[in-house]
Amino acid sequence: MRYIDPHAHMVSRTTDDYEKMALAGCRALTEPAFWAGYDRCSAEGFRDYFNQLTSIEPARARTYGIHHFTWLCINPKEAEDVGFAREVMQVIPEFLARDNVLGIGEIGLNKNSKNELRILEEHLEIAAQHQSLVLVHTPHLEDKQKGTRLIMEAVRNQPSIDPGRVLIDHVEEHTVKEVLDGGFWGGMTLYPDTKCTAKRAADILETCGTERLWMNSACDWGPSNPLSVPTAALELRARGHHPQAIDHVIFKNPMAFLRQARAFAQRAEAIDVGHPPK
Ligand SMILES: [Zn+2]
Repeated sequence: MRYIDPHAHMVSRTTDDYEKMALAGCRALTEPAFWAGYDRCSAEGFRDYFNQLTSIEPARARTYGIHHFTWLCINPKEAEDVGFAREVMQVIPEFLARDNVLGIGEIGLNKNSKNELRILEEHLEIAAQHQSLVLVHTPHLEDKQKGTRLIMEAVRNQPSIDPGRVLIDHVEEHTVKEVLDGGFWGGMTLYPDTKCTAKRAADILETCGTERLWMNSACDWGPSNPLSVPTAALELRARGHHPQAIDHVIFKNPMAFLRQARAFAQRAEAIDVGHPPK
């Protein structure tokens, strides 16, 4: 089996997890900037974090033969203070040209507040200026459908961003169809309890087909499983899905979306063949 985990918060994981992922066939992963479990108190804290995402984590991943990529932003949970969020956003362009940076993410909404929406729109402006890919976090539970609609509207208001270059993550049964119908890509986040389980993701794939959908583990500092993508692949295999159809979802789909970013395209052939990072 070969796979890509396109949403993995590896700063929260041990090297044992990198090793397990490599053993399971993980060839590449992408790590969106997110909430650290506490609110950071200065833009300099984010500068350190962006350094970690663009230099420390790629080196750790390389030890296990895994290609590491990242996305930059201030996440919606810390975007309520607009002035602070703008200070952080000023730091982002310094890092956008680094060789493992794919674009802006995971931006989005958490509580669907006005301030979060404003900062989402400003992040989309940065993405438009730099022609970056975008990875979007959608809110949880009862806020998800409303938040997903607000996010899609914000992207449509930015005509220079093609929805085919935007991945809307944490889709569930009640949001996936609208996301795909809007021309966006959708990500299913596999968590042990919340968000999607492997069985629910398999049901969604059987209902919606396999185009423009991927699965990820998120594997952050909370209850999560860094092997949830290969675990979902086993679920699909047990249900009798063809190995090529499984490879399509867990490898070829993330390849197709991510290679739209120059940083990924430069290493796409090596990842496809199975060469480790240099
Ligand atoms: Zn995340």
